[in-house]
Amino acid sequence: MLFLTLKCVYEFVNRRDVNRHKEMINFELKNISKWSSDLFHLIYPNTCLICENELPPSNKFICSFCHNDFNYTYFERYSEPTPLDQLFWGRVSVFSTYSYLYFEKTKSTQPILHALKYGDKPEIGIEMGKLIGEQVKQLSSFQGIDALVPVPIHPKKEFTRGYNQSEKLADGIAEILNLPVLSNYIERTKNSDSQTKKGRFKRWDNVENKFISKNTTNFKHIAIVDDVITTGATLEVIVRILQENNPELRISIISLALTK
Ligand SMILES: [Zn+2]
Repeated sequence: MLFLTLKCVYEFVNRRDVNRHKEMINFELKNISKWSSDLFHLIYPNTCLICENELPPSNKFICSFCHNDFNYTYFERYSEPTPLDQLFWGRVSVFSTYSYLYFEKTKSTQPILHALKYGDKPEIGIEMGKLIGEQVKQLSSFQGIDALVPVPIHPKKEFTRGYNQSEKLADGIAEILNLPVLSNYIERTKNSDSQTKKGRFKRWDNVENKFISKNTTNFKHIAIVDDVITTGATLEVIVRILQENNPELRISIISLALTK
């Protein structure tokens, strides 16, 4: 009897110790997890790319305030030709065009483009691509596209940047439209000087020999994807080259931003 009583007391004390140990271990684990989460947040803060405010876990890259502040073109609502359609009038025959945002230096589009091009943030290209894809999906003029062709950047630039920003946009659009991305369909042949101080015609000369595409394609309708369109000179050359090799090919244009 005495033995049994002692055994019960021993087991009770032992179990209580085990439970206390378990609680202590859980407490330590919780603390470690909190510390590591704080540390992770310190190294990789989840902040909005534009206003740099902290993002809720459900948001990626851009907060809802900045989202509402986007400089939208609203081209999806146009029944008449858009300024982007008009940009190619008398230059090349383009089937359909779309740009998601207007680019103005003082507006919210600039930090997006900056982050995409120089901020080592390929993810933002994919995210913006998905947003563009959602819009293009609803446009009847973009139905029946067979493939997306990103505007290439020079291989040296791609090596330094680690990615081609237009290809990342195309990847995001492709995810929504379920299309192939033809990354090597057009090649860039030489690195051009900065084009910003040159006039439109000089720029055209400068751009003319930069691209080659000897490929013919069985696709009927492709969309070229660009990050930002200013004069349209680069796209004009690419469209010409593609149409020389494939006279029947329908070519459309999709860009993240159009300079206003
Ligand atoms: Zn923000």
